[in-house]
Amino acid sequence: MRHFAIVGSGPAGFYTAEALEKAYGDQARVDILDRFPVPYGLIRFGVAPDHQSLKAVSKRYDKVAESAGVDFIGNVSIGRDVSVAELLDFYDAVILATGAPHDRKLGIPGEDLPGVVGSAEFVGWYNGHPDFADLNPPLGGTHAAVIGNGNVALDCARILSKTRHEFEGSDIVGHALDALDGSALKTVTILGRRGPHQIAMTPKELGELGHLEAAVPIIQTADFPPVEADEPLEPGLRKSVTLLRGFSDLPADKPKRMVFDFFAKPVRIEGDGRAERIIVERTELDEKGAARGTGETYEVPASLIITAIGYSTSPIPDVPFDGGKFVNEAGRIGDRLYAVGWARRGPSGTIGTNRPDGYEVADQIAAARPAGSDEGRGGAEGLKALLGSRGIMPTDYDDWRKIEETENANARPGSPREKFVRPDHWLQAIGR
Ligand SMILES: Cc1cc2nc3c(=O)[nH]c(=O)nc-3n(C[C@H](O)[C@H](O)[C@H](O)COP(=O)(O)OP(=O)(O)OC[C@H]3O[C@@H](n4cnc5c(N)ncnc54)[C@H](O)[C@@H]3O)c2cc1C
Repeated sequence: MRHFAIVGSGPAGFYTAEALEKAYGDQARVDILDRFPVPYGLIRFGVAPDHQSLKAVSKRYDKVAESAGVDFIGNVSIGRDVSVAELLDFYDAVILATGAPHDRKLGIPGEDLPGVVGSAEFVGWYNGHPDFADLNPPLGGTHAAVIGNGNVALDCARILSKTRHEFEGSDIVGHALDALDGSALKTVTILGRRGPHQIAMTPKELGELGHLEAAVPIIQTADFPPVEADEPLEPGLRKSVTLLRGFSDLPADKPKRMVFDFFAKPVRIEGDGRAERIIVERTELDEKGAARGTGETYEVPASLIITAIGYSTSPIPDVPFDGGKFVNEAGRIGDRLYAVGWARRGPSGTIGTNRPDGYEVADQIAAARPAGSDEGRGGAEGLKALLGSRGIMPTDYDDWRKIEETENANARPGSPREKFVRPDHWLQAIGR
């Protein structure tokens, strides 16, 4: 019997478990470990709460977790509670699927002022991530800004702009819903260093902005090249740019505005003890398509500034790390050690992009350690004994189902669940 440990229960971890199960059948046991007793990584803590259909992908992961050869072991943090070297003693291979949970920094003066928050923090706050339950983002001002031109920036801007009514059916946590409902925001500026042809926003996410109850998206037509220039764009991007262009036809008759400010590079954040404004330099594209400052600057008022410019992985002791992700070649980090998902390739692609990643690594493992052979490693048994000796009590998949049932039972009307936002509440729900 082969034993495999996958560290991280997000999409990459689950697709890898699925692939290993297919490759080995009943010749292997796969343990999916997570620092939390609740699985699914960014499906729970990242994907927007008003995009429930996307979150439904977790049903597929449930099937994997329920299959005979796979176990979920929660409440264990690798690198803190147990080292990777120790895991390698118990398992034939260890696959790191730990994602990329840290916000990249802007690297400009003033970004540490109160009022400047990373998108991982802000998204975690409204999605019930326990590390960010107390974020309390300042929502009392009339102006906010989101820095970045990808879908995460759009998620943040949309969540700031929706009405309480528009969150019906979502699983936004109650504390965030109440705070957003009481917000004084009138203008959310979305800043991008380059232009409409360089966005990483997808049509579905952009399309939604044209139909918000209380907010209207605003663009400056002068930021756009002639419409013929859209022709050679890749079809998805062309659709996004067409949607953006269409925003100029919308009547600006709603109380809130979402202003797309292109060719705008933040150079400094200023304020009296807290963020009040961003100083922005106007840019143009150079020959290589990069943003080049023009020297012209202006101010964008904002008492809440959300940076959505990318993420990096958490380093784990003794695992080679390049500052953003684990150093790997096609997913292989070293002998019997692999990475998948965002920990392997950095924060890009959709949920589905993690599937080929997991399958590729599972194929490599199966080629190196064929089914039927055995190196005598004991898997979860040894791990659990070690954890027990350290006073750590792991949780299992049944514990998660109990937590989920309680969250579902606690749901406010019209919402599928009310997530617990404190780890001790998770543990209380399973009688600890
Ligand atoms: C705000 C946001 C919105 C998104 N929206 C969409 C969307 O609408 N559609 C879409 O297709 N994609 C979306 N994505 C992208 C998608 O979420 C990612 O592609 C996917 O989650 C990456 O999967 P992963 O398994 O690599 O990482 P993650 O989902 O981050 O999972 C990592 C897991 O590892 C665990 N972990 C981390 N460190 C340790 C440790 N030391 N020990 C034990 N466990 C650990 C974490 O708790 C977590 O469960 C979004 C991403 C973000 C950030």
